[in-house]
Amino acid sequence: MNVFNFNAGPSALPKAVLEKAQSELLNFKGTGMSVMELSHRSKEYEAVHQSAIDLLKELLRIPDNYQVLFLQGGASLQFSMLPLQFLKEGKIGNYILTGVWSEKALKEAKLIGETQIAASTKESNYTSIPEFSDLSFNKNDAYVHVTSNNTIYGTQWAEFPDITHAPLIADMSSDILSRPLDIEKFGLIYAGAQKNLGPSGVTVAIIRDDLLAENVEHVPTMLRYQTHAESNSLYHTPPTFAIYMLNEVLSWVKDQGGVEAIEKINKQKAKLIYDAIDESEGFYTGHAVKEARSLMNITFNLPSEEQNKVFLAKAKELGFVGLNGHRSVGGCRASTYNAVPLEACIALSDFMNSFRKL
Ligand code: PMP
Repeated sequence: MNVFNFNAGPSALPKAVLEKAQSELLNFKGTGMSVMELSHRSKEYEAVHQSAIDLLKELLRIPDNYQVLFLQGGASLQFSMLPLQFLKEGKIGNYILTGVWSEKALKEAKLIGETQIAASTKESNYTSIPEFSDLSFNKNDAYVHVTSNNTIYGTQWAEFPDITHAPLIADMSSDILSRPLDIEKFGLIYAGAQKNLGPSGVTVAIIRDDLLAENVEHVPTMLRYQTHAESNSLYHTPPTFAIYMLNEVLSWVKDQGGVEAIEKINKQKAKLIYDAIDESEGFYTGHAVKEARSLMNITFNLPSEEQNKVFLAKAKELGFVGLNGHRSVGGCRASTYNAVPLEACIALSDFMNSFRKL
C-alpha cells in the first residue's frame, strides 16, 4: 500500500534506510545475529555507536569543544535534566515561550529553581516568534532556553540571537538536521530522534565542554550530562537499535549531499504546500505569520470546522496519513521532515488545489 506519511513524530523514515535495516535484520555484518542481539560492549556495536557520533559531528560541523551524547527519556526528560544541572541557587532559568513544548520545559524548571519568561508569543496564540529586541535577559541567567521549531503551531526561528551572558540552550526536537547550524551560538542542543533523526528511543544532546565542568554532586548520576560524556554514552545500556537506525539515517543524509542539500529540498517541499495555501484566495489559512513559518510543520485551517473534517477524511481515503492538527489545536498539519519525499508534497499540494475547487 502506498501512503504519503505526514506524521508529526514518530514520522517518516527514508525508505532506503528501512530497506537496509530489513536486509541486515537477521544477520548484522556476518555476526549471524541482529544488531539488537549484540552486546553494547561488542566491537560491532561500538563501531555503529562511534559512527553515529562521528557522522553527526561531520554533518552539523560540530566543533571539537562539544560532545555528542545519546540519552533516553525523550526531549521531555531534558526539560528536567537541564535545570537540575544548571539552575542553581541565585540563578535564573530564562525561557522564551513559543508554544506548548517551551511551556512544558518552563514548567519543569519551575519545580527546580527560579525562572523568568524572556518573551512570549502566547497572546497571539503562538502564531509568531519574538523579535530579538523583545527578549529580556538578566545578568544572572543560568541559561536562556529556546524551542527552535514549534511542532504544534508550525513556527520556527529563522535565525538565533547571539547570546553571550549565558549559554543558549535549544530544544531542536523537530528541526535538527533540517538546515545548517552555527553550533557555536549554543551551549546545549537536545532533540528527541523521532522526527529527523530516526525512530523514538534515543535523544541526542550536543553539549559544550565548559558546561560539563559544572559541579553536579547534588544531581542523581543518571541525570548528569557528565556521566554520559565521560563514558561516551555507554554508562549504561544505550538504545542500540535506535542508535543503529540513527547511524543509517545520518549516512542517508550524507548521501543526499548533507544538510545544505537537505535544506534546499525542504524549502522546495514546504513552498509547494505554502503556495497551495497562499494561492487559495483565503480557502486555506495558515496558522503562522509568514515570517515565522516552519519548514517542518505546516499548519492550516479550512473555512470551517466541518470543512476541515471533510478535507481530512478525503485525504485519508487517498492515502495521506497524519494530516490532523495536534489534538490541542485541531485543524490540519503537514509535517514535512527530511525523510518526507518531494513527491508526497507535490501530491498534497495537488490535492489541496483540487479539493478547494470541488
Ligand atoms: N519538544 C518538541 C519541540 C517536540 O516536538 C516534542 C515532541 N513532539 C517534545 C519536545 C517531546 O518529545 P518527547 O516525546 O521525545 O519527550
